[in-house]
Amino acid sequence: MTLKQIVDKVKDSNSKADLKKLESAYDFAYKAHKGQMRKNGEPYIEHSMNTAFTLAEIRADLDIVVAGLLHDVPEDTTYTLEDVEKLFGKDIALMVEGITKLSKIKYRGIERYVESLRKMFIAMANDPRVILIKFADRLHNLRTLDALPPDKQKRIALETLEIYAPIAGLLGIWRLKWQMEDICFKYLYPGEYKKLEYKYEVEKKVERRRFIQKVKGVLSLELRKAKIEHEITGRFKHLYSIYKKMQVKDRKFDEIYDVFALRLVVPTVEDCYKALGIIHAIWKPLIGRFKDYISVPKPNGYRSLHTTVIGPEGKATEFQIRTKEMNEEALYGIAAHWYYKQHGSEFSPAKQMRWIKELLDLQRNTKDSHDFINQAKFDVFRNRIFVLTPKGDVYDLPEGSTPIDFAYAVHTDVGNQCVGVLVDDKMAALDTKLKNGNVVEIIIDKNRRGPNHEWLSFVRTHKAKNKIKQFARRSPLENLKRFIPGMK
Ligand code: MN
Repeated sequence: MTLKQIVDKVKDSNSKADLKKLESAYDFAYKAHKGQMRKNGEPYIEHSMNTAFTLAEIRADLDIVVAGLLHDVPEDTTYTLEDVEKLFGKDIALMVEGITKLSKIKYRGIERYVESLRKMFIAMANDPRVILIKFADRLHNLRTLDALPPDKQKRIALETLEIYAPIAGLLGIWRLKWQMEDICFKYLYPGEYKKLEYKYEVEKKVERRRFIQKVKGVLSLELRKAKIEHEITGRFKHLYSIYKKMQVKDRKFDEIYDVFALRLVVPTVEDCYKALGIIHAIWKPLIGRFKDYISVPKPNGYRSLHTTVIGPEGKATEFQIRTKEMNEEALYGIAAHWYYKQHGSEFSPAKQMRWIKELLDLQRNTKDSHDFINQAKFDVFRNRIFVLTPKGDVYDLPEGSTPIDFAYAVHTDVGNQCVGVLVDDKMAALDTKLKNGNVVEIIIDKNRRGPNHEWLSFVRTHKAKNKIKQFARRSPLENLKRFIPGMK
């Protein structure tokens, strides 16, 4: 790795970046780590540079790249955080401090897991940029895992797979998530990894390329006729996701592999829908496989149109259709959001950070470590859904949430006084499992004293559970009054 490679990457996404700052950070890190070696025999600065390079690759802004270069200075050299602050300013020093704090985890086993999870979330709530640096740092550590003893390799791979990768997914940084997952997969399940790698890379590569060329040829012609500028690429499917699909759906490699995947990038949202029409006119769409994540984005902000058609040779062919901006967001997540923010788009990462705050609440309210992990896994490490109020306010909830969960997410009183619900204008049961994009209107009765204890059997969010339990604890008499009519 050379400084020039990092500089070029930074220039790719930001031609006006202050390269002097980057160069002086490199000189300082080089001096600080001079003489230090990594376990694999490389000079330590290689690790700092690789971390910075990954950050530049996901389009993190310059200060984050600089902090990436400096991230191990206070921890591993004779220079201090004060030195970093004096030379590079308070903001960069704060990021470096965040990383240093994050790396100090002394526990073992399950305690370690909880601690590392907590620290990640606290760091993320304080400054999400620190998490990006941590991911880049971890990615390079994974790439150099060979130098460590096998038990350490397994521990780091497992921790990454269970904590880092899901969080990268939540933040929408798919590129890092996939890269981390594939390396962990290799260390945790070496046999399965080799088998899939052989099948995917060696056996099917030629066939895949030929098929994708064929689809591109047909589609490109029609898009040109409609005067839609476009870029079509075959999509790389990463091995761990194939492996997971084989596990979950109990299907064989060929069934999963034989879905060919392409990505179509066009200039505008209007073009996305036009292109969708063109694809459906050429090939027959598979029922139930069309998803409009442009009208209703995924909770992490992901936008795209998805459809699967019966393509050439009768093969199922998946398309993702999106604009260039959506594509960058999908690959680089919040990092791209910052990039666009600097360059004048109106995205606010704060809005999608709500679940982080929720998690901090959960952490404060849960004493038992195992409870915390289970709840956290449930609340955060699962897909979340977007549900709307009749006014169009959006709430994100964990999958499987019910109208009662929604009511408590809106307001405690709305939950406590809920007597009925309209889902998409139709009366529905209070234990209905809500779906992405549902419009939910809660009917309340101001005279209602409190929640029904039975709701505990179906609510999903910790907030709803806590509020229902809290009510029961606080006012047993009030509860009784509700069930015995006429009691005063
Ligand atoms: Mn490091």
